[in-house]
Amino acid sequence: MEQKNFDVIVIGGSFAGLAASLALGRARRTVLVIDSGQACNRYTPHAHNLLGFDGVPPAEIRQKAKSDVSKYPGISFLSDTAVSAVPAGAGFKVETAGGASYHARKLFFGTGVRDLFPAIEGFEDCWGRSIVHCPYCHGYELADKPTALFAAGDDAMHFAKLLPQWAGSLTLVTNDRGTFSLSQLEYFKEHNIPVITSPISGFVHSKGMLSAIRFEEGPALEVEAMYARIPFKQHCELPEQLGCLLNSDGLLMTNEMQETTVEGVYAGGDNTTQMRSLANAIALGTKAGAIINGALLN
Ligand SMILES: Cc1cc2nc3c(=O)[nH]c(=O)nc-3n(C[C@H](O)[C@H](O)[C@H](O)COP(=O)(O)OP(=O)(O)OC[C@H]3O[C@@H](n4cnc5c(N)ncnc54)[C@H](O)[C@@H]3O)c2cc1C
Repeated sequence: MEQKNFDVIVIGGSFAGLAASLALGRARRTVLVIDSGQACNRYTPHAHNLLGFDGVPPAEIRQKAKSDVSKYPGISFLSDTAVSAVPAGAGFKVETAGGASYHARKLFFGTGVRDLFPAIEGFEDCWGRSIVHCPYCHGYELADKPTALFAAGDDAMHFAKLLPQWAGSLTLVTNDRGTFSLSQLEYFKEHNIPVITSPISGFVHSKGMLSAIRFEEGPALEVEAMYARIPFKQHCELPEQLGCLLNSDGLLMTNEMQETTVEGVYAGGDNTTQMRSLANAIALGTKAGAIINGALLN
């Protein structure tokens, strides 16, 4: 690519990054979108709860979004990984794994998060199919099935209250993590939610569709769906290297304007919020695009 200087470099060209780019492209800004093609929902065959696209494969939604953004002449795309971002002149220099170097006055990180799977046989095969993170995204399709909740502590309590609206039956499997208060244990008992604390030895499935959970001790549990509350980390470490602060949940701190704690560096999407959804990532990206355009006027 001949052009080396842009108004904005967008790192992460998935839902948040494309939304920010659309707003900036329509504002006639020059934007380089660098994306490594590892969106967190690439495991799931269908996305739900996004107006106009309910039940559509996520890759298809991204492709349509990218083709919309491509119409604007100020936008350039690069399939690569950004490996360095440092302040340079009145802006930032970004380098990629492919050895290219670019400059922009502002940066937007739509880099999402990386889910950290437990090292248990079958988990990753089922992720996004019959093991899911969110009932609003996949609960309707998995409704009325015998269901497990893979969680511990207060998070388990929150989901144990939420999930009966969808689950046929619910069993809490903690994989030997954390403990519960007496009142939480009483709640599970009152609401017929058995708690299995034994470490899990494997998820039995066929092509990602769960049929049972095996434990190190005790009988297997027959289930066809599982909600998993698993840890995550920032997908991209460049914001932290630039000095952007994370909150106690490991999310990038931003102000109302989607600006991180480093001036000129903006972020939005899963890397900034616990409300992980396509609609929210798109909303935050769209908002950041308009705000960055305004900031470029100064
Ligand atoms: C299994 C699963 C299923 C889901 N299903 C639904 C659903 O049905 N409905 C719904 O509303 N939500 C769903 N979600 C949530 C939704 O997918 C996310 O909220 C959304 O993808 C967040 O968008 P994002 O742009 O912030 O991050 P992502 O979509 O994760 O994209 C981040 C992008 O940044 C790129 N990137 C990261 N680091 C770099 C770097 N250094 N250089 C270049 N590129 C980089 C990645 O490759 C990736 O393309 C699901 C999530 C998961 C995990």
